[in-house]
This record gives sequence, C-alpha cells and structure tokens, in this order.
Amino acid sequence: MRPEELKLQEAGGTNSPAAMDASGTDTVRTLLPGATVGVLGGGQLGRMMALAGSAMGYRFVALDPAPDAPSGQVTPQITAAYNDRDAARELARRADVITYEFENVDAGVAALLAEESYVPQGSALLYTTQHRLREKAAIEAAGVPVAPYRKVDSLAELKVAAAELGLPCVLKTATGGYDGKGQAVIRQEEELEEAFRQVAPGAVVPELVLEKFIAFKCEISVVAARSASGEVKSFPPSENVHVNNILHLSIVPARVSADIQQRACELAETLIAGLHAVGLLAVEMFVTEDGQLFVNELAPRPHNSGHYTMDACATSQFEQHVRAICNLPLGDTTLLTPVVMVNVLGQHLDGAIKATCTQDEKDNKLGVVPKLHIYGKTESKTGRKMGHINLLCKDTGDGLSWVEQSKLWRN
Ligand code: AMP
Repeated sequence: MRPEELKLQEAGGTNSPAAMDASGTDTVRTLLPGATVGVLGGGQLGRMMALAGSAMGYRFVALDPAPDAPSGQVTPQITAAYNDRDAARELARRADVITYEFENVDAGVAALLAEESYVPQGSALLYTTQHRLREKAAIEAAGVPVAPYRKVDSLAELKVAAAELGLPCVLKTATGGYDGKGQAVIRQEEELEEAFRQVAPGAVVPELVLEKFIAFKCEISVVAARSASGEVKSFPPSENVHVNNILHLSIVPARVSADIQQRACELAETLIAGLHAVGLLAVEMFVTEDGQLFVNELAPRPHNSGHYTMDACATSQFEQHVRAICNLPLGDTTLLTPVVMVNVLGQHLDGAIKATCTQDEKDNKLGVVPKLHIYGKTESKTGRKMGHINLLCKDTGDGLSWVEQSKLWRN
C-alpha cells in the first residue's frame, strides 16, 4: 500500500464492487495528494478536474481517443479508444483511483477497471443514468418526484399513454438522447403519429418514455457531492436558461424563493444519499409556479450548470469531486458572490476572447468581473461548447446586462 493510501472500514454499504476487498469487506480508501487519479475521458470536464486536483497535489492520467484532447494538454494521456481493454488496463495500472467524465462508459471496460483498480463510484449509478426509465424508477425509489410518465413501446401504447397522462406531453427515447435530441413535444392528438415517427424513425422501435409536459416557471439544478465514506454536501441551486436545448446561462442565486432553494438542495442530498453515489451528482429540476419541484435528469459527474462554482464558491465542483472520490472531507460550498455563467459556443469564441482579453473592452460600467475559461478544443464549430465565462457581480441583473451589452449572444 502506498503511504498516501489509507484503508478505512465503511460503516454503511457501498454501490461499488471495487470498494470490496478480497474478504468481501466493504473498504473505503483515503487517497491523499500525491496519489494518481485516472480519468476515463479527456474532454473539458476532465481538464477542469485535473486543473483543480493538480493544484491540490494530485497527479492525473486520462484516457481519450483524441490525440490533442482538452485534458491531454494539461495532464499525461493514454491515447486510445474508450473500449480498448489494453488501454483501460494501462490506465488502471498507472492510477490509484479511477473516475470518469462522461456517462456512456463501456460496461465491459467499467467492469475491468473495477476489478483491476479502485473505482469508488462503482458502475451501478452509470447503469441507472444511462436509461431514462431506470433513472426515473431510481429517483422515485428515493422518494423524489418526477413528471408523471409511461413506458411506451409502440404507437398504440403511445396513444393509450397520452390519453392517460393528458396532453401536452414529451416523447423521449430512453437511451442516447441529449441536448433535446431524440424527443418531441406533443400538444394535440393529431401530432401523436408524427412525433412517434420522428422519435422512432426506424423499423426497430427503441424503448420510449412519454412524460407529462411540465409548464415550468424555470429550470434549476443542484450539484451534490457524496464522499466515499458518506459525507454529503450540495452547492447552491443554479437557475438554467437553455437556447436550442443547450445550456446558455446559469444564474446564481437562482431567482426562486429561499424555501425553494432549500428544498432543491435537500432533494438533491436525499437523492445522492439514497443512491449511495460517490462523487458528484447533478440534479436538474423543473420549478412550477406553485413551487413544486420535479426532477428531470441526473448526471453522475461534474455538470455544465456547476461551472459557476469555479470562481464563485469557496470550493469548485471539480475540487469537490476529487475530494469525494479520494475520501477527503468535503469542501465548503458557500457562494461567495452572485454570478452569471454564460457558455461560449463556437460562434461566440472570438468575440468572447475579445470582450475579456483586450484593453478596449476592459472597462465596463457594471462592475462585473468576467472570468474566462477556454477548453483548448482544436476545432471550433457552431454549437460546440468551447468555454464559458463566469461573470462575478454584485447582482445577477448586472451579469445579465453584461451578456446583453456584449451583443455576442444575440443570434
Ligand atoms: P432533457 O433531454 O430531458 O434534459 O430535456 C431537454 C429540455 O426539454 C429540458 O431542459 C426542458 O427544457 C425540456 N423538457 C424536457 N422534458 C420536459 C417536460 N416533461 N416538461 C417540460 N419541458 C421538458
């Protein structure tokens, strides 16, 4: 055992087969700075995790198929396909603890890594969140509400489900959809067949879920963390504004009552504890006019809506993730300043750099402090996430005015 690795007995259960030693006893390892974190995936989330963890003294190694991946520019990288068993073995050999920065981890690789290394997050939660129906069942089992829904396997079943739930509804594929792809809103009965054809175009019908459309006042999310030994903390809720189904703005504090903010955090903490998750869990929710909360989606990893924490909280979500998987005490999640996070997509990249890095754009009367984060992606494309700016402000209205006055995000 390395000096920085301490084995602790865990009182409660764990969902991680890897945290089980040969005698079948549940174990939790505490990994102190100096240990190496292996990351499956080398995108921007891995890069920001490595930057935060490196500052604490951890070493990182990532596995990613792209030779010039964002994380490979700041940490050593094994360049190979995600399902390459030999490369996964090499990652396991070089790392003391393994984590991942995306959700669609190959099941075989996950099992191999769990056997040959230490994966405190396990693979159970990944399995759950890879499938909307499994995810909804798990959320409900933890006693947390989701929008009313039905499993649908055919057009006939869709018609029955729509009659039961009442329109409007949203039809979604159970797997593979992201950023609004693989889904259709159905407002009238005549749209049922068209929506079915759109979401299930092939001869083989994928598993589908029909959800009641929630007329939400706003969307919020909470990033919660749970350490390997069971400590739980959450970050303040972020109010999220999407454009073309891609996150555009996070506004913190969210413009909802203190009571809703508190309930949202409690709900996220209940979920992460109920799921025995280790690491981060991002919980996206709808807030209705009358203050009800419905969970829409979970992500068991750092989340775009948590990027504001990098400059506005006492601890960033990335540091918190490293702390959680290495079983350090979780960091303070206090919000130090109001903040607006605005995503920089390919079409905003040049303008965002100009607005934050050149002298003539430096003065702003709003007193906003823009903190630029660029991910180092080699190719800039319209709609591709290239970076973000955290706008530190006295009031989130000033941050929103900064975005408006920059005119960059108007198209
Ligand atoms: P999703 O892929 O489930 O995150 O959905 C993408 C976006 O579609 C969400 O951020 C919402 O804006 C919208 N949406 C999804 N499901 C519903 C629903 N049941 N009711 C209202 N809007 C929804």
